[in-house]
Amino acid sequence: MDTLYIVVPCYNETEVLRETTRRLLDKMDRMQQAGLIDEASRILYVDDGSKDGTWELICRLHEENPRVSGVKLSRNRGHQNALLAGLMTARDRCDCAVSMDADLQDDIEVLDEFVSKYDDGCDIVYGVRSSRGNDTAFKKGTAEGFYKLMEKFGVETVYNHADYRLMSDRALNALSEFGEVNLFLRGIVPQIGYKTDTVSYVRGDRFAGESKYPLRKMLSFAMDGITSFSSKPIEMLTGFGIAVSAAAVIGLIWALIAALTGAVSGLGIWILLSVWLACGLVLTGIGIVGLYVGRTYMETKHRPRFLIETVLDSAAPDDSRTSARSASAGGTV
Ligand code: UDP
Ligand code: MG
Repeated sequence: MDTLYIVVPCYNETEVLRETTRRLLDKMDRMQQAGLIDEASRILYVDDGSKDGTWELICRLHEENPRVSGVKLSRNRGHQNALLAGLMTARDRCDCAVSMDADLQDDIEVLDEFVSKYDDGCDIVYGVRSSRGNDTAFKKGTAEGFYKLMEKFGVETVYNHADYRLMSDRALNALSEFGEVNLFLRGIVPQIGYKTDTVSYVRGDRFAGESKYPLRKMLSFAMDGITSFSSKPIEMLTGFGIAVSAAAVIGLIWALIAALTGAVSGLGIWILLSVWLACGLVLTGIGIVGLYVGRTYMETKHRPRFLIETVLDSAAPDDSRTSARSASAGGTV
């Protein structure tokens, strides 16, 4: 049996937490009876600097039932950071952790499938929405457009997957090696690798309270997603600069021929084409500088270059050998 931690970031969620706890505990009871999870399993609420007494409610729920745990962040840091804080707290305490929203829009009945896939050897299981319930046409359109845009920009994400997913403790340890500050977990997690699978479910409605993701937060989240993983915008700028320069050079050749044959006279066309050429060259230059800045930016993230899944070797690593070598190497330097 596995110890499962259900990690739930909460921002001003007093309206939903009591009911969410009731439903989740009930689900955990049934999973425990089915032999899927053990009694050390927990709900882990992360209070993301709420202003409405969410933390006090979490404390009360913890007193009422020790299977409810909580982490309080010092201030509001946003959904992704709150989620990471919860996952990093859970990783030394569980075999696997599932992240989900406090409003239970993601169907908790598929938790069994998540855990079964983990038992089958999966390190990451993605929850994928087969339908978006009653999401407004605007939310559905912007969200699906966003996934398509990410794909165009070469960012690897799982289509229609939000942050409802299971990760094993091994995958969580791998996640901890990604040191970036602009967090976009939906882009980082697919980079981890290992055996993965998906579970599809129907996304419902928020059962109480309002969305904590206004358009402003959604846009900044989308920007984080694109700029953290793609230098395509800079490449596009460079490409545009080259195209403008090339058009200007062709225009200049044409103007030269036209001037020699006497078809066109006057300075106007030369001034116009020179401005085009200058703009094109400046854009190309900015783009090239941008490509280097982009590389530097990626380097500063200190992402792991690889993660080893399995080592097949009959000899165990021998610490004394490496230390003897490094000691002598140290002596010669
Ligand atoms: N959330 C958070 N910090 C924030 C905003 C949201 O921890 O600054 C949490 C929120 O409490 C919820 C989850 O993130 O558990 C998703 O938010 P919400 O359900 O409001 O987003 P929507 O489903 O409308 O996109
Ligand atoms: Mg929601």
